[in-house]
This record gives sequence, C-alpha cells and structure tokens, in this order.
Amino acid sequence: MHNQTVAQLVEQLQSKAVSSVELTQYFIDRIKSRDGELNSFITVTEEQAIAQAKAADARLAQGDAPALCGLPIAHKDIFCTEGVRTSCGSKMLDNFISPYDATIVSKYQQQGVVCLGKTNMDEFAMGSSNETSYYGPVKNPWATNCVPGGSSGGSAAAVAARLAPAATASDTGGSIRQPAALCGITGLKPTYGRVSRYGMIAFASSLDQAGLMARNAEDVALLLGSMSGFDPKDATSIDEPVDDYTRFLNAGTLSSGNTAKPLNGVRIGIPDEYFSEGLNPDTEKCVREAIEQFEKLGATTKAITLPHTGLSVPAYYVIAPAECSANLSRFDGVRYGYRCENPQDLDDLYCRSRSEAFGDEVKRRILVGAYALSAGYYDAYFAKAQKARRLIQQDFVAAFNDVDLIIGPTSPSPAFEFGSKGADPVAMYLEDIYTIATNLAGLPGMSVPCGKVDGKPVGLQIIGNYFAEAKMLGAAHQFQQATDFHQQAPATYE
Ligand code: GLN
Repeated sequence: MHNQTVAQLVEQLQSKAVSSVELTQYFIDRIKSRDGELNSFITVTEEQAIAQAKAADARLAQGDAPALCGLPIAHKDIFCTEGVRTSCGSKMLDNFISPYDATIVSKYQQQGVVCLGKTNMDEFAMGSSNETSYYGPVKNPWATNCVPGGSSGGSAAAVAARLAPAATASDTGGSIRQPAALCGITGLKPTYGRVSRYGMIAFASSLDQAGLMARNAEDVALLLGSMSGFDPKDATSIDEPVDDYTRFLNAGTLSSGNTAKPLNGVRIGIPDEYFSEGLNPDTEKCVREAIEQFEKLGATTKAITLPHTGLSVPAYYVIAPAECSANLSRFDGVRYGYRCENPQDLDDLYCRSRSEAFGDEVKRRILVGAYALSAGYYDAYFAKAQKARRLIQQDFVAAFNDVDLIIGPTSPSPAFEFGSKGADPVAMYLEDIYTIATNLAGLPGMSVPCGKVDGKPVGLQIIGNYFAEAKMLGAAHQFQQATDFHQQAPATYE
C-alpha cells in the first residue's frame, strides 16, 4: 500500500477498494514502526487522523466526495493546526497548541484530506540540513549517516520513506526543493502569493511560500489546486484564478500543435551560472543527462545567462535575517510560547525567554538582521540587498522572454554527512546557491529526481515564469514518463 502514488490511492478511495480508515491506520502504523530511526515526525496525530478518516469515509459513502477525500498526508510543523502542537522545530513553541488552522490546513480538511501528523524541520525553517531542529535531526532514508536537507527535511524523509503519500512544506530559500533533491522525491514551490501564508509561521515574509512534496509530478499536480488561491487573510496572496494543474500532464498537450514528441516547441534555458565551480562533477553529469532527456522528448535547449546570480546568496542573507528579526520579535515570553522561570523584571523576561528558547542559528540570524536594519547600516546593507534583489528578478524577466522553462541543478551536491557543515555557516548557506534566486524573484521552482551519486539522489531544478506551475508539472511529468528515478525507493523502506 505504501508504494502507491496519490493518483492510485485517491482512485481506490473513490472506488471504495480501500477505506480512508484502513489507509490512515496503515500509514500511522508504518510511522510508528519505521520513524524511530528517521525522526521525520514531531507529532503523530493518530486519534484526530482516525476521526477525520471516519468522516471522510462517510462522505465517500454518499458518492459525491471531493477527489482527494480520505487521502492521508502530513503537514510540516510550520503550519498551525488547531488543537495540535505547532512547534516550528523550536523549543520556543514546544508548548504551543495552536488555537486555529492555517488556511492550507483548513482547505485540505474541507476536501476531506486526513492529517497524519506534523513533520520535523529546522528551527523556524532556518537551515539546510535539519540539524537545527529542537527535536533532533532527521535522517536521510537513503543514507542514515547523512542529512535529509532542510528546512523541510521531515516532510522529505517521510515521503521518501513512504511514511506518507505526500506532505506540505515551505520554501523561503530552497527548503522544499533542496530536501526533495536530497531525498529523491518531487517538490514544488509555487509562485509567491499563489498559496496563502495565513497560519504559516513567518520566517521571511517576502520570501516564504507554502508548497508540496510527493513522489512524482502528477501527484503534486493533483494536490496543488486544493491549497492554492486568494485568501483575504493574507495581504500578499494574489487574486488570480487557480489553474488546473493537471492540464499539461497528457502527452502532446504541452507541445505547440500536433507534433510527434511530447515536449516539441518547449524552449528550455540552461543558465551558465548554475554550472559554477562549486557544483559536484557527478551531480553535474546527472543534470546534463537529464537535459539530454528533455531534448529527446522534443524540447529545445539553449544556454542562457542570469548575470546577477552571484548576488543572490549575499542578498538573501541580509533580507531573510532582516525580516526574521522583525517576525521573531513576537516571541517574547509574554503571550504564548516559552517563558523563563522567575523573571526579575520585564527586560529579564524578554531576554531570558529568548536566550533560553532560541537555538544558535536563529539567534545568529536575529543578530545579523537587527544589525542590517539598524539606523546607521540600513542603506549599506538592507537597501543595497533590495537593489540586488531587483537585478536578480530582472535577469529572470529577460530570460523568460526567450524560454519557457529554466533547468539546472537543485543543489550543488548530494546529501552530506551530519556535522560536516556545522562549523561553517557559510558552507551551509551555499547549499541554496541555485534555489535562492527564485525566492528573491518570487518565481515558482521545483525539483525532480534525476539520478544518483554514491547511491544518493540528485535533483534537477525546473524554474518557471510566474504562474507557470502547470507547465512545469507537465514537463516534469513527461520527464518522469521517460525515466524511473522517481520510482526508486531507499532499500530499507521499499
Ligand atoms: N536554507 C535556507 C535558509 O536557511 C532556506 C531555508 C528555507 O527555505 N526555509 O535560510
């Protein structure tokens, strides 16, 4: 049962070949027996899941249930879930039971989707390895001495190990795509504003975007519509109709006219800057082979340049910390979350609550961000970074005049060993060298498995123009029709 795709599972639910209670219990049992080593879940919501599954079965019995009704998925622990701990991977929120649901959580619930539990993550989504979680690191199911990537490493490991058919995740600088790459699954970060951020704990509000992880592009396409759409509760959500994300899945529909190959007419740009010095040569080989595969499918490829790519990591590591220093000031020990013992006065309460409950990486970013925003340095750092951001965005606008999609590696190398980048924050920051620019520009990006190096998965990144998610999913699906990387499972979790 755990090897079935979302597409297969929803079909069986609709035809009543399996009930939601059976399916949900199956995955809960699998999590209980298999997640001990991986640590991909922070909270498993068994009772609530079974209650939701029963309600889903009742709707299915009536015959007009929504397409996803009864499907169990997991939510990253950054999304507020009413009555359930929502920790964001931090000691600060270890005791926080959310009084409300994030918009995406309630949207799925309205469709009858069942929540299995909340997945582990880097503290406040800051990290690329899951090593900053208060609940301990998540292990990569392909190699348990290695990281699963981050910050959505729990969601990625859970999907890769078949503990959940799909999971929600969030991406501020690469946190959906990089862990999807390192765990050999498919992940998509939609266009900024496509999916509501209401109830998603804020890290860097101008970059944060909720998205999905599943094993293949078709499954992501089936799930994406239900989480997307305008939300009056999120002032940055965009009032645009939601696309049918499955519309380009069938062969031929993506190509222009009646042509022999499924990707005929699709123009793909390969950015020179994404094959830079730091790229692992074996990773590069897999990515180059994948590009050839796209050509075989009928796409035309050409070299393009995104000249300001080099500014993206420095700009991000000013903008994201600046926004996080403001967003995280709400955690003050007063209203909710961690409070220190016996505070002497108000200053002591703020100071000790925050120093005792935030981890080192979160503190580092709050310090950097507060510094970059301070009166004397604002122009030199924050304003400058915003200018760089605009140049990065304009590179993409120019590139998309000539191409439909941009393709390159998702991350510079496969999963690395625990502790190997811990001492050097900048080495860790470079993990997102190919993913961050997309967030700065607000564009959609995805990662699909495209090979292996030393038995560990490699991800191919597909970047699309604003609101081009359906096209990206169509191209990814065609690639997955011609390859089997997305079907491979880690040996011990087959
Ligand atoms: N790794 C990046 C960071 O630490 C991105 C994290 C994310 O996308 N949430 O900021």
